[in-house]
Amino acid sequence: MSSGSLLCYQLFRLEIMRDFSKDHSDLALNTATLGHLFEGCGAGWLPEEVIDACATRGFGAIAWWRREIGKRAFEIGERTRSAGLEVSGLCRSPFLVGPLAPSRRQNVIDDFKLSIEMASDLGARCLTVCAGGVIEGSHSITESLKEVTSIVAEMAQFSQSSGVRLAVEPLNPVYGGNRSCLVTVRDAVDMCEIIKNPLVTIAVDVYHVWWDLSLAYELERAGADRISGYHLCDWLAETTDVLLDRGMMGDGVADLKSIRESVENAGYSGYCEVEVFSANNWWKRDPNEVLDTCVERFRTVC
Ligand code: ZN
Repeated sequence: MSSGSLLCYQLFRLEIMRDFSKDHSDLALNTATLGHLFEGCGAGWLPEEVIDACATRGFGAIAWWRREIGKRAFEIGERTRSAGLEVSGLCRSPFLVGPLAPSRRQNVIDDFKLSIEMASDLGARCLTVCAGGVIEGSHSITESLKEVTSIVAEMAQFSQSSGVRLAVEPLNPVYGGNRSCLVTVRDAVDMCEIIKNPLVTIAVDVYHVWWDLSLAYELERAGADRISGYHLCDWLAETTDVLLDRGMMGDGVADLKSIRESVENAGYSGYCEVEVFSANNWWKRDPNEVLDTCVERFRTVC
């Protein structure tokens, strides 16, 4: 390609990306960003306070965590919608395999079903699915992924009646041992290909994919219908904790615009959900400040 046509190509690519500089209606809040009612974390806002604060600021959607919903799925779903917001997702399935998963497959299935039913009652666009780490004693990512694939396939069948989409989320390889034997978008797309159920989709999270130079290619391979979520945060160069020290967008080293370009070029046009786990920084601040910062960073650096 000549330098002239390369420039045209790049301009064209930038032009087709959504412009968030003056419109943040595609911004969603994952309540993890406020501590998601995790014991002792965040300001402990009730769902109603979170809904009102997001509605006031013009967010488009909220993704909830199960611990916040309890038995109030219908009610919180309705409350979210009546404030003009959508429920972009529910976090999450149990870990399916590995050291953090329930002890037997049947227990995993039972809890997985409960999470699908809650997502359905809530009217959530998708349920986030966490693969879980390597099966103890197996020393095998391959065997672990096979079992994950088998469980997800079974649960996609179960989900058929409610239509809840399962958003399988590949996690950063630092979690390979305990939280997710699924560590690349490549393997997530392969899983979708094996299961071949349109309810099995992929969630793309900056924290987990920012390092992956094959991202654009793999997302093209996935296709628009298989991408059900895009999660925003940043990777801090000097992170102190890979679980609870995520950066706010713009504070780290991830190329946020180029990652979004890859997601949108693959056809995704849904919500961009801020998901910042930050025990010692953002969870200690006033939630009003956190939400204002989300909006400002979304408009300027995402
Ligand atoms: Zn995520």
